[in-house]
Amino acid sequence: MELQGQVAIITGAGRGIGRATALELAAAGARVLINYQHSAAAATQLAADIIANGGDAFSYQANVSDEQAVQGMMQAALDRWGRIDILINNAGITADAPLARLRPEQWQQVLDIDLTSVFLCCRAVTPIMRAAGYGRIVSVSSLAALAGNVGQTNYAAAKAGIIGLSRSLAREVARDGITVNIVAPGYIETDMVETVPEALRAWALQAIAIGRFGYPEEVAAAIRFLVSPRASYITGHVLTIDGGWVMP
Ligand code: NAP
Repeated sequence: MELQGQVAIITGAGRGIGRATALELAAAGARVLINYQHSAAAATQLAADIIANGGDAFSYQANVSDEQAVQGMMQAALDRWGRIDILINNAGITADAPLARLRPEQWQQVLDIDLTSVFLCCRAVTPIMRAAGYGRIVSVSSLAALAGNVGQTNYAAAKAGIIGLSRSLAREVARDGITVNIVAPGYIETDMVETVPEALRAWALQAIAIGRFGYPEEVAAAIRFLVSPRASYITGHVLTIDGGWVMP
């Protein structure tokens, strides 16, 4: 129970990697705010499951690309628990198209939800963490940020932006007891990769050293370590979780 007494905000936690991370951090003793945008039933059920297992959680609807909504979410955690120790910037979407056919709305939507959200959430929590002299921030980037991916110029730009933002912030807050790290998953079995065409899936599987896609729990386990007190000397790090696909 290494996170006992701590409070974690997890964006996009109703399903996929965010859901697995909420379960993992709750299992380590953290009280978790389960943020969602559309998955109200799943987020509510997840909070109920955590409480049934002896933990503490509640679900909270907020569009994380909306500044007011993000402020309201942080305030809700403070009202309930009086502190925020951990922020996991997990919410994200894709809107794929080759650059020549990528519409400006698709570009902007992905930048707003995948990158501006990280700026807004980090800006909202860092004063709280600074005042406490402790904090852990982990943001979910992607292998696409490092290796690029056909049809994902918008997504790769947003996910690469997360890395630059996080490393700069890591330097700004390093002496306040706050670490800021990044995980960069390869293909993980969630709704997001359900639409990957069969040919692309087959090509990826032969390129991934371990020979399979990852599971949300395998990303959550790495996040749990990075937000633990034991990861106190790791900041500004990009941890790839990709089954040995790209070895930078
Ligand atoms: P997912 O199952 O599609 O989940 C996406 C999550 O983001 C959902 O919980 C969704 O919430 C939330 N979300 C989307 N827009 C939001 C908004 N405006 N405000 C709040 N929440 C919002 O995908 P996933 O695979 O778990 O993705 C989680 C993160 O991992 C994303 O950042 C993704 O880019 C990244 N990632 C995934 C993979 C992969 O292969 N799966 C690889 C690399 C990186 P609602 O359902 O409530 O709308």
